[in-house]
Amino acid sequence: MSASDNQRDGARRLRIAIQKSGRLTDDTERLLSGCGIRITERRDHLLAHAENMPIDILRVRDDDIPGLVMDHVVDLGIVGQNVLEETIMEREVDGLPTAYREIMPLGFGECRLAVAIPTERAWGGLPDLDGQKIATTYPYLLRRVMREQGIKFKPVLLTGSVEVAPRAGLADAICDLVCTGATLQSNGLREVETIYRSEAVLIARDQELYPEKQEVLDLILPRLRGVLAARESKYIMMNAPREALPQIKRIIPGAENPSIIELEGDPGRVAVHVVSREKLFWETLESLKELGATSILVVPIEKMLD
Ligand code: ATP
Ligand code: ZN
Repeated sequence: MSASDNQRDGARRLRIAIQKSGRLTDDTERLLSGCGIRITERRDHLLAHAENMPIDILRVRDDDIPGLVMDHVVDLGIVGQNVLEETIMEREVDGLPTAYREIMPLGFGECRLAVAIPTERAWGGLPDLDGQKIATTYPYLLRRVMREQGIKFKPVLLTGSVEVAPRAGLADAICDLVCTGATLQSNGLREVETIYRSEAVLIARDQELYPEKQEVLDLILPRLRGVLAARESKYIMMNAPREALPQIKRIIPGAENPSIIELEGDPGRVAVHVVSREKLFWETLESLKELGATSILVVPIEKMLD
C-alpha cells in the first residue's frame, strides 16, 4: 500500500487506539468484540484491521492514547481517566492541544490513585508530607491535590516499581494506582489517602469526522451502550400464582412491564418473563419463592438494543 492509499484509507476507516498489553487490554478487546468488531490479527501488530467493518485498531502504550486522540492521529481511544487527566495537564504545560470529547465511561479498569506510607509510620493527614519526597508516575494529579491544600512536596518520578521507592530510600511516601491494596501490603506500605478515582473511558477527537467514519461510529455507539447495559441486566423467568403478580413486579429491581404467558391447564398460574436492569441478589429470588414462584430461571443477557 502506498502512502497516499494509506491516507485515503485513514479518511475512511475509523481508527481506535487501545492499550497494546496491560490491565485494560482484555476488557477492551472483549468490549470491541461484543460490539461485533472482529479482529484476528495478532496482538504484536501495531495496526489491526477489523475484518467485517471499516475499523482499524491501533495497539499502543496507554500513555500515548490521549495524545493520539488530541493530535487527531486516531478518531477514538480507550484509556484510564487517570492517564487522560495526567496527560492533559502535561500537554497544557508543553503548549500542546488538549481538546477531546468524552463519549462514555466503560465500567472497567477501576482503580484509585492513593498515597501510601510505610506501615509503621504514624499518619495525621497530607500535611504530614510537607517538604517530603513522594514517588509517583502521576506528578500532575498529585500536585493538583497538594496545591489545593497548600502543601509542598518533592516529586520523585518513576514510571514503574513505585511501591519499592520508600524501602529503597528513594522517597518518604508514594502516590500510586491501587486496586486491591495487596501490592502495597506486601511492600510494607499502607494506604492513607485517595486522591483520584478512575475507570476506563472512551474518548473521541474533538472535530467532525468524515461522513464515512461518522456512519461507523453511529453504528457502534448503540451497540456499545447495549453491551454495557447488558452487563448488569438479567432475563428472569418463573411460573407464579396470578394473584402474586403485583408483588412480584414490586420486588424485581428495575423490572419493566413483564410478559405474562398463560399456562395450559393451570388457570391460577402464569409464566412471567422479565428483564431486570439491576443487580439481582439471592434474597430477591428467595422472596419470589415465598410468593409462590417456581422454576425460577435467571439468564445473563449478552446484548441489548433499546
Ligand atoms: P503501558 O505499557 O501500556 O504503559 P502501564 O504499565 O502503564 O502499561 P497498566 O498497569 O497496564 O499500565 O495499567 C493501565 C491502566 O489500567 C491504568 O492506567 C489504570 O487506569 C488501570 N488500572 C486498573 N487497575 C489497576 C491497578 N490495580 N493498578 C494499576 N492500574 C490499574
Ligand atoms: Zn502506561
